[in-house]
Amino acid sequence: MARIILVNEMKYQYRADGKRLFGRALPLFVAATALLGLTTAACGGDDDGPGGGRPLVLAATVQVEALARVVAGEDAEVTTVLKAGVDPHDYELTAGDRKAVERATVILRNGVGLDGYLDSAITGKETRAKTFVVTEGIPLRVVDGEADPHVWQNPLNVKVMVENTADALSAKDPGSEAGYRDRAAAYLQRLDEVDREIAALMESIPPANRKMVTNHDAFGYFIERYGLEFVGAVIPSLSTQAEPSAKDIAALQDLVRREGVKAIFAESSLDPKVATQLAKDTGVKIVDDLYGDSLGEPGSGAETVDGMLLANARKIAGALK
Ligand SMILES: [Zn+2]
Repeated sequence: MARIILVNEMKYQYRADGKRLFGRALPLFVAATALLGLTTAACGGDDDGPGGGRPLVLAATVQVEALARVVAGEDAEVTTVLKAGVDPHDYELTAGDRKAVERATVILRNGVGLDGYLDSAITGKETRAKTFVVTEGIPLRVVDGEADPHVWQNPLNVKVMVENTADALSAKDPGSEAGYRDRAAAYLQRLDEVDREIAALMESIPPANRKMVTNHDAFGYFIERYGLEFVGAVIPSLSTQAEPSAKDIAALQDLVRREGVKAIFAESSLDPKVATQLAKDTGVKIVDDLYGDSLGEPGSGAETVDGMLLANARKIAGALK
């Protein structure tokens, strides 16, 4: 089956093996297009803008940025709106971010309601970038009617993000497609390894201890993937913007005691005050530096998505044993 990828109003047709038909195989492309009843725009040059033809990629979140860097290699320039340690749920664009949006030729978004801060900048007429949502195709968890945006907490979802990133960069920059596809393929293997390593770490936790209390509901995909049990969250929401009431906290204290929870997990990008107090009041351990919405600082080993997933898994296994 051939796929159609829309690139700046032009439709390129791909064979199942990823080779582009456009160009040398133009007659075949036109015939196939006619057969499929599709319309094509005139063949025009893609506006690559400044940067000597290398795509200028703007990633909406740190996870999307890290994956884009892996796939881009030297073939594209990658920048991000968010930095490590910044909470995406309440982010507001700076003037510098708006400039970056204007400069970009490709924008990669997480979507699922997480990076709404980009909306106002992208709808403007000045935006020339093609925008891709790299989480497309991932089966979403739904909590209280809301889709969970924290898809990167499951390495299998990350694989979909990597493939979508390779599709996006290849569509924008077909000349470097082989490089994008090769680097993506190598990282897909790495993610399979990480998945197996995490599964083994979780297996090392006594089954009765595989219970998670987190700061906000950011680890649902991880918990589902590795058969853990989600007992509750200090901020009982997919967003960090909700406030727990005294009643919520009291109910969670009861749950922690009743369920024999071994540790409370807070996150590197959130104030751990309430979670720390909960751990103190219930006499359990506190881990206050899981990567929920963010990645580690450069050099921490958790600045990559695979490194972040393993770092979290080691901390979880260590605290629940
Ligand atoms: Zn979050």
